[in-house]
Amino acid sequence: MAGLTLRSVVKRFGSFEIIHGVDLDVADGEFVVFVGPSGCGKSTLLRMIAGLEDISGGEISIGGQVVNEVEPADRGIAMVFQSYALYPHMTVERNLSFGLRMNGNPKADTDRRVTRAAEILRITDLMQRRPKQLSGGQRQRVAIGRAIVRDPQVFLFDEPLSNLDAELRVQMRVEIARLHRELGVTMIYVTHDQTEAMTLADKIVVLRGGNVEQVGRPLELYEDPANRFVAGFMGSPKMNFLAGRTVAAEAGGVTVELVNQKGARLAVPLAGPAPATGAEVSIGIRPEHFGPGGSGDADLAIEVDMAEHLGATSYVYAGTASAEPLIIQRDDSRQWAEERQLTVAIPRHRALLFDKDGQRLR
Ligand code: ATP
Repeated sequence: MAGLTLRSVVKRFGSFEIIHGVDLDVADGEFVVFVGPSGCGKSTLLRMIAGLEDISGGEISIGGQVVNEVEPADRGIAMVFQSYALYPHMTVERNLSFGLRMNGNPKADTDRRVTRAAEILRITDLMQRRPKQLSGGQRQRVAIGRAIVRDPQVFLFDEPLSNLDAELRVQMRVEIARLHRELGVTMIYVTHDQTEAMTLADKIVVLRGGNVEQVGRPLELYEDPANRFVAGFMGSPKMNFLAGRTVAAEAGGVTVELVNQKGARLAVPLAGPAPATGAEVSIGIRPEHFGPGGSGDADLAIEVDMAEHLGATSYVYAGTASAEPLIIQRDDSRQWAEERQLTVAIPRHRALLFDKDGQRLR
């Protein structure tokens, strides 16, 4: 049993509070990813779980035991850093076994654990090399291997792939997913990378300014964000936002006038109560959700600034001086991109509605 709970967790540096009372439940075996803009407190939260930072308020439990006062080495966790933190003068084998040997672990057991970790990570052939004789990806494997040999209840990863080039990152991302599947242990992972968060996580925690904005499965956050911040943060390229004003409320929805789009109107379905007529709102639409003109519920006449062709897909950047800049993703956009002006449609069931404070209206 090695789930994890955070209850009203607070962190202060001096008089400056940077984590404002975070609550979180992580189930045994779950893969949880912390995302959020730079400085939102992701690393600090992870370091508090690891015991590398004191907890200023609240409680952290691992496997049902409150660990606030428990030393890092006794928390049953292992942390993998972005910098790898390998001992440069030791061979890979020594790097892997060092911690266990220092703790007086029996040699036969240490050897067994090191062999197993090397097999899991496919680094058996590298055991006699030193870190400087390894590639970045191989070093990262050794760093992960050092965590595996400790047989932790919880793995913590702090941006482990950010020093690798794009191709290696993809490879290592797949490796980490495989590792999670094979070991079945709880993992908590901090990243800036959208794709890592979307592909690795069972559950994503979106942080902003030391608060949790939303917790959910990756697609839940992508398709059903609680507010404009989460909507804008998740997804690449980013969601488009269009300023609007409500002009009529009807049963099951509201009609919104898009104020910078030549008065185009869109009837947005709502399950809950409609905002008052005249309310300032915004409409969110993902780049891949626009349709060709005439296919949806609101047509926008836009000017194309530029197009990027990526092969399988293209991004059209559009906007005029008076309108919001838009990014439109099309799998068939080569022909669109050659036009200077085009009409795109917003299908009403793809439109997300936010009030003027950025809260989602559903
Ligand atoms: P990044 O994505 O840039 O790594 P992060 O979300 O991991 O950012 P943290 O490193 O947790 O953010 O930092 C959160 C806030 O706490 C930042 O404003 C940072 O400046 C501040 N902070 C971190 N460590 C300390 C410290 N030792 N003393 C004072 N302030 C700190």
